Amino acid sequence: MCYLERSPKNNYILSWSKRNVEVDNWAVAYRHQLEASNHLIASNARFFTELAALYIGGVKQSRLDPDHIQELVALPALRKRWREKLTVTPEAESETDWPSLARAMRSLPAGVQRWTTKHVVGMCGVGKFKVRWGYDTSAACPCCGEFEDHLHVPRCRAPSTSAEWDRQTVALDLWLDTQVTDPAIKHALLSLLKGVRDPSLPSIRMVPGRLSSAFRSQQCIGYQGLLEGRLSRQWAPLQEEYLQSRGSQRSPTLWASRLSHQLILLGFQLWEHRNLVQHSEDNVQLQERSQQVNDGIHNQFDMGPTDLPKVVQRLLSVKRRTVLNKPLVDREEWLKLVRMERTAYRRALAPQRRILHRFFHPADHSP
Ligand SMILES: [Zn+2]
Repeated sequence: MCYLERSPKNNYILSWSKRNVEVDNWAVAYRHQLEASNHLIASNARFFTELAALYIGGVKQSRLDPDHIQELVALPALRKRWREKLTVTPEAESETDWPSLARAMRSLPAGVQRWTTKHVVGMCGVGKFKVRWGYDTSAACPCCGEFEDHLHVPRCRAPSTSAEWDRQTVALDLWLDTQVTDPAIKHALLSLLKGVRDPSLPSIRMVPGRLSSAFRSQQCIGYQGLLEGRLSRQWAPLQEEYLQSRGSQRSPTLWASRLSHQLILLGFQLWEHRNLVQHSEDNVQLQERSQQVNDGIHNQFDMGPTDLPKVVQRLLSVKRRTVLNKPLVDREEWLKLVRMERTAYRRALAPQRRILHRFFHPADHSP
């Protein structure tokens, strides 16, 4: 047995040892009390020192789960918006494979994640919002000239967008093969995806009976929803059956999240294509501007160099084709300069012309 000498320090240690034994006894007594009432998991009571405590479903949380808290705060408002904008109906919400979409979102580059959050609600740099934000005066699509909102981007009928759509869907077809996708599921998904551009195309008659429920479930979520990576939760179990039939160890949940990822990227590629056109000479708005500038250049050449100062006449001494072949910005500058100089020169000559007119037509000026 060990005896401690009496000293202030040892008295302090002895006091804490006693307290420790006391608390242990209380804990054992409390456990016996719980066992007697068949409640082995004690409730997490609020301590008197706690200023605030968070309860979810009547259970006090021992730590703050940021995802759960975000869901509690944001989901009611999000559901309200989904209802108002008919984006995700309550039926579609329960049909959606949200865990796969969450994994897909986390695996996307940060820039594409931001793009996705903006485009799924439609508040993004499309014509509709550029006009609303005062960045542009026209909401026309740069590829076809039609009114552009976020839904128009993958549905644009411009030949270049149709070609891009075909390229991307062929790439998705090949990708699905590399992921050992059930051929019937692949066929069903690609048929449903065609519904984005032509809702009359997908038909349940195209798929075998074992896929009809998943097909209908995906239609409930919507073709746009599919393009935004919102898969039906029925696809992964069907893919699992196929993988098992082949003795494959591949994960069907990973397959689903990767597919969701690929679908979002497909939509993003169409946006990239649209931006490429916007900044190229294929932009229909730019083409219109280019035509107007060319008409102005033709006018200036038709009027000739007579009304221009000598130094500017040199601009019309080149071949018309040389000017017309210049980039749009250079042509605009050329036209602006020639027009300005012609106007200024005509203004400067106006008094002399009036004097000459008076001289040769005095009757017109007699009182
Ligand atoms: Zn368009």
